[in-house]
Amino acid sequence: MRDKYPDLELEYVFTDSGCELPETYEFLDRIRAVLNISITVIKSERDWESYWSVWKTKSTHQGHYTYLPSPKQRWCTEVLKLIPYENWLQTNYPDYTIHSYVGLRADEKRDRSGFTSIKGNVIQHHPFIENGLVFQDIKNLLLDSGLGFPKYYKWRKRSGCYFCFYQTKREWLGLYDNHPDLYQKAMSYETIIPEKGIKYTWNEDISLQELLVLREAILKEPLVEDNSGKTPDKLSAILAYII
Ligand code: SF4
Repeated sequence: MRDKYPDLELEYVFTDSGCELPETYEFLDRIRAVLNISITVIKSERDWESYWSVWKTKSTHQGHYTYLPSPKQRWCTEVLKLIPYENWLQTNYPDYTIHSYVGLRADEKRDRSGFTSIKGNVIQHHPFIENGLVFQDIKNLLLDSGLGFPKYYKWRKRSGCYFCFYQTKREWLGLYDNHPDLYQKAMSYETIIPEKGIKYTWNEDISLQELLVLREAILKEPLVEDNSGKTPDKLSAILAYII
């Protein structure tokens, strides 16, 4: 952005849900150092725990346990990222027309509705999409600039909260291997009451507890060759049972 639009007065911001991975915070520091820029961190005044307890209480009173956010009920993004961003913009630039640049790639799945300002003075731009930049282009940008990839990229393909429901099973297992404490924390938000038939979990088909039990059981078994004569790695063996 800085090189392509040298005349723009840019301010870099990061909307922090407060539940990001440690690697994300580390990468932010790296961006600051390598690119020599400052990044403003925008955070909700109330944290995830406080929102979650309200949703949990509300849904419990209504007889439902539907408080976990999900692709259909993405209230997490709204309260932890979009509203704090809007508040910050309107507090700092109330009388401006604001141009907001978001880093969605041209080949990225568009599962995000994007940010719409309540006041209507924010114009949203997607420079990667507008310039047709796909994964390989972003990879080149990261490598050429000296930034490289965030460390979580070895086991997870997108940033976001440690409990993000968009994670694949492979990424959940990666979370367990890299941050078992965060995996346990994510697990503590799931509600399973078998006698009432209630099962509200981050994944529709398997709870995090079940995923762990399965993992342990499979790891105890000796790995056997598949039809092509190859022995699968442990993670692939676990995933073959789940997916
Ligand atoms: S990263 Fe996932 S869990 Fe976190 S706010 Fe975004 S959609 Fe919600």
